Formats: sequence, structure tokens, C-alpha cells
Amino acid sequence: MPKRIALIAHDDKKTELSEWVKKNEEKLNGHQFFCTGTTGGIIKEACPSFDITLMKSGPLGGDQQIGALIATGEIDLLIFFTDPLSPHPHDVDVKALARLATVYDLPMACSPATASLILQSGFLD
Ligand code: PGA
Repeated sequence: MPKRIALIAHDDKKTELSEWVKKNEEKLNGHQFFCTGTTGGIIKEACPSFDITLMKSGPLGGDQQIGALIATGEIDLLIFFTDPLSPHPHDVDVKALARLATVYDLPMACSPATASLILQSGFLD
């Protein structure tokens, strides 16, 4: 059964996410992805065979769209590589998304180390 995975990265973390996805392409392929606009475009380029649903760009409401999917039980895993060193105009949306992930007890990774641990846990199988 494919898992529904939200993939998001702040600008300075997009390369890191794309490299992490590429490194784990074999394990991730076959699952269903929901991405904010810019992140999704980059992931699609790195892994053209992935099934990706594109939301709006994060600052334009994409994080909130993903939050709505979490609230309706349509996301199984949230991978959001956040950049803690830069200010973001949509910081409230990011906080709201992390809050909803906690409310619904969703596995959430904000960095490659945690994302890799989740993959190694067998959660996707
Ligand atoms: P983006 O949005 O993928 O459209 O850049 C991510 C974010 O929330 O910053």
C-alpha cells in the first residue's frame, strides 16, 4: 500500500532535500507525493517517475494546503527540511503545519538524519 508523503523544503534546504530523495529514490519510488510548488518542481526534475501532486508555493498557501490534507487524514508522513537560520514571511504557516502534524501524531522529519531514520524504521513497507 503506497504511503502519502508530503515533501517540502525551505529555499536553502531544497538542494539537501533533492539529494536526500535521489539517494533514497529506490525506497521512495511507488509512493505518492504531495509537494509545495517550488519543492515539487525540483523533486520532479530529480526523480521524473515519481507520482507528485503539486500544491501552491509555500509562501502563497502551499503549506496550508498540505496542512488541510493532514487534517483530513490524507497524509501519512511529513518531510519538511526547514531552514532555522533564515527568516521566512510565511513562518506562521510553517508553525501551523508542524502543529497539525503533532495534533494528528504524524511522523515528521525536519532534517536528513530524522528522515533517514524513518525510512530505516520500515514505516514505508
Ligand atoms: P516552495 O515552498 O516549495 O514553494 O518553495 C516551501 C516553503 O514552505 O517555503
